[in-house]
Amino acid sequence: MKIIFATGNANKMREIREILGEEKYEIKSMKEAGIDCDIVENGTTFEENSLIKARAIANLAKDAVILADDSGLEIDALNKEPGIYSARYMGEDTSYDIKNANLIERLNGVEEKDRSARFVCAVAAVFPDGTEKCVRGTIEGYIGYEPMGENGFGYDPIFYLWDKKVSTASLSPEDKNAISHRGKALRMMKEEIEKYENIGC
Ligand code: IMP
Repeated sequence: MKIIFATGNANKMREIREILGEEKYEIKSMKEAGIDCDIVENGTTFEENSLIKARAIANLAKDAVILADDSGLEIDALNKEPGIYSARYMGEDTSYDIKNANLIERLNGVEEKDRSARFVCAVAAVFPDGTEKCVRGTIEGYIGYEPMGENGFGYDPIFYLWDKKVSTASLSPEDKNAISHRGKALRMMKEEIEKYENIGC
């Protein structure tokens, strides 16, 4: 079965290849599939945005399973900001050093127990027969008082795990994938793809 993942992000491609298994599926990025299109993510939830992306690509490639994801950070004390605007928060081109410092500043005076946050990832699929599926993975944590760790990307340096008291930027990529929102959502989607194959479509 051919799978196209609607992303240009090399890290996401590596992760999806590891989780789905390249020996079983032919997995291509949009670029590798020769698809180039600008998609306006104007949904109001992670699920809507992932489906908008998957549907847009499905209109251009009919013979494959199209996958797309949308993810972000929800901080409870900030009314779940930056949420679906995580990539756009303070502007796409603003560095994460600045975004992370800003979020810590906005939580000034907030006690650790009230700094709860989660990474959310929705993964949507459009199958060749037009069936749609969407799954959600989350990882719970809290916003630390200072950035920590050199791995990961984006908001990882300020997102701490309750049990380990370290940020997800302190974990190896393998350890993060094992517990991350995206790892969980991709593993759930793998089951959906297997179910689709098993009903013989
Ligand atoms: P998108 O899903 O590619 O649109 O990106 C969502 C944004 O959410 C990223 O640009 C990051 O700012 C943030 N984000 C999503 N997942 C993670 C993660 O695992 N670590 C750090 N930041 C993340």
